Amino acid sequence: MDARDQPLAVEEVAEGATRIALAVPGLADGVNVHLLTGAGPTTLVDAAMPLPGALDALGAGIAAAGSSLDAVEQVLLTHHHADHIGLAGELAHRTGATLLALGGVADVLRSPAEHFALELAWAESHTARHGAPDALLDRTRGAQGLIGAVRPVDDVHELREGDVVRAGRLDLAVLHRPGHSPTDTLFVDGDRGVALVGDHLFRAAPLTPVLGSMLAPEARPAATYLQALDETTQRRAFLTLPGHGPAVPDPGALVADRRGALDRRTGRVLQALGEEPVSTWDLGLQVWRGVPSAAHGLTRLAALLASLELLEDVGHAARAGGPDAVAWVRGPDAP
Ligand SMILES: [Zn+2]
Repeated sequence: MDARDQPLAVEEVAEGATRIALAVPGLADGVNVHLLTGAGPTTLVDAAMPLPGALDALGAGIAAAGSSLDAVEQVLLTHHHADHIGLAGELAHRTGATLLALGGVADVLRSPAEHFALELAWAESHTARHGAPDALLDRTRGAQGLIGAVRPVDDVHELREGDVVRAGRLDLAVLHRPGHSPTDTLFVDGDRGVALVGDHLFRAAPLTPVLGSMLAPEARPAATYLQALDETTQRRAFLTLPGHGPAVPDPGALVADRRGALDRRTGRVLQALGEEPVSTWDLGLQVWRGVPSAAHGLTRLAALLASLELLEDVGHAARAGGPDAVAWVRGPDAP
């Protein structure tokens, strides 16, 4: 049997909630789909990546949890990234399940190829603007075929902030909390202390917004993300079920740990800033230990820009170049 036809892991993470992890090349933990069962509709949270064998692996995982693909009545989506919406259209087509998502995710589901073309055009101008090598986009361009495998779907039930969705034994409040992506959606059952959070918070990731065409030019994605995480961790203790990796029993401790790492990175960026304008990429080359690989370059650039945004907000960094060639200097209020 092909390993791609089987899930990486199937584990019950809470009563009526099963984590099904599916393989994704390059991600040790793969990507999670959570199955919610109980008195309410049988529900999947997220729809994995459209890789060969993924639908069979998902079906095998659901069967191992005592249900079946055909029993799935609805699919909730946590954000618009391809590793979370990949099989949504196919699932709706095969099982008749209702797809539920915020409007921004629904737009991508209706025309995934057009969205990807916009993302690629955005990424090309983004790398050029920040003085980064075009080779950083090789992986993005290579993913084009994969995005082509996302089946478009018109019929999406659009969720709004504050809606409550019955799913298995949970009553999930819908919270729009932009951060990792502009469409990040949390599904929270406050009474039972369970939150499904997609990539808002998971162990393997730093607190870095994934930049892209959906962000307005004046957006402050890093500050927005930190504010959203503050709201998340102010809630009473709950079990957090993320989009990648195992459940997080203490989200507040994980956020504190990640914020410490972000502060240390931001401190190194401040130290590297001087009077002479330097492009974002060249600044990175001073801060990073070695040139990042093409596979990680865009993420490193996003992390650097998150630190620069936070420094700019307090006057510790300032822009020196124009919008087409961004450069940075030490800000007027830098210590
Ligand atoms: Zn993801």
